[in-house]
Formats: sequence, C-alpha cells, structure tokens
Amino acid sequence: MRQCYIAGNWKMNKTRAEAIDLARGLVTALKGGRHRYMIAPPFTSLDAVASVIRGTNIRLGAQNVACEESGAHTGEVSPLMLKDLGVRTVIIGHSERRHLYKEGDALINKKVRLALKHGFEVILCIGETLEEREAGKAQEICGSQTRLGLAGVTGDELDGVVIAYEPVWAIGTGKTATPEDAQGIHAFTRVTVAGLYGKAAAEKIIIQYGGSMKADNASALLAQPDIDGGLIGGAALTVDTFVPICLV
Ligand code: PEP
Repeated sequence: MRQCYIAGNWKMNKTRAEAIDLARGLVTALKGGRHRYMIAPPFTSLDAVASVIRGTNIRLGAQNVACEESGAHTGEVSPLMLKDLGVRTVIIGHSERRHLYKEGDALINKKVRLALKHGFEVILCIGETLEEREAGKAQEICGSQTRLGLAGVTGDELDGVVIAYEPVWAIGTGKTATPEDAQGIHAFTRVTVAGLYGKAAAEKIIIQYGGSMKADNASALLAQPDIDGGLIGGAALTVDTFVPICLV
C-alpha cells in the first residue's frame, strides 16, 4: 500500500523570518497527520527551517540541486552542501527549471543519478505543455521524460524516486487537470515504470500530482487509484491553504 505523500514547493518565496514562521505553523498543525509530508523552502532558508522541523514528521526538501559535487559552478548548490543542511529530498526537473531555465533531460538525468548516489530521495517532475497536450502528445512527452530522467537508475535506486506529474498548463494557473485526466497520465506513467523496472516496482513507486492543487480539489484528485499525493506550489505558502490538503 502506497502512503499518500504531500509536498510543498515554496519556490522563490519567503524571507528567513517568514519561512520560520510558516514552518512553525506547519509543525503544530501537522503533528499526528496521517500522510507523509515534505517542505522545500528556498536555499536561503533551508538552514533556518531545518532547525524548526528537526525531529518532526515533516522532511526537508530542496527545490533543485547541482549536477556536480563541487568546483567552478557559480550559483549552483551541491548535493554535499544540501546534505550538510539536513536536506533529505530534492526536487529535480520542475517545469520552471525545464522551461524558464532550459534544463533538458540529459542534465536532469545527471542530477537524478548524482542525488541518488548521495542518498537523497528524488522527486522527478514530468509534464506536458498545453501545446503538447492539444497535439495529443501528453503520454509521449511524459513517457519520454520518465525514461530519460531515470536512464541509468538501478532497480534498487528506484526506491528513492518519487515521480510528480505536473502538467505545465496547470502550474500556478488555477487550471487543474480533471481527476480523470490526471489519473490517465498517472496510470500511464506507472505502466512506463513497469516497462523499465517491472510490475512490483511500478506498484510501489509514489506518483504525486501537481498543478493548482487546492483544498477544494485535493480530495477528488487523491481519491484516484494512481494519484499518491501532491506537489503543491501556491497553496503551500500559508498554513491555512496547505494544511487542509495535508489533512485530506
Ligand atoms: C508546483 O510548483 O510544483 C505547483 C504545482 O505549483 P501550483 O500548485 O501553484 O500550481
């Protein structure tokens, strides 16, 4: 049985003081919550948030990670540095990284393999643009992002991978995939994983949905058989909007 996994991606929001405040609110509100929880503050607040959530049921995540351990990579943050801060999960291939910062599948795969080598849980994001969906290519894109993102990842390492299906047209737009549409891609992604790693591994892997998930649509999305949680952006920025999703 897969455990429901709700993650909050704070993106480029929150000063340190604001991040501490939100993290404190979540620690209180999610104490005893029955799902698995993760929050990914900006790099600048990781240290501060780590102190607040240490020893609680909320894991610390980072929104990105470098594809190298050290060296001349101005502006990048190494997996070793993240580990040092207590980060346990890294989000890789978020659509904003793919589309705004032109990260391609090869770079994303390099990050995935390095992060897994260092023992992180990886949330690999996949998802089609509106143009791709309208051209009937949603499955093709999600299938190829899954295969290329996981290239070279062993069956054992797959235990550390979560996939997040985030249709690009639904992120931050207020448009959500219908539960049935999302379920279709989730089921297809599970079949893709089965093709790569076998049926047992596919049954085990957590596939989150992301894209304008809110308190009022979370229950219907999470009720789908292949939707195992959510990666939440906008609604993860306040206790009042995030906690109801976490407690669904
Ligand atoms: C995200 O950033 O991963 C996301 C799903 O954002 P939002 O919930 O705001 O659509």
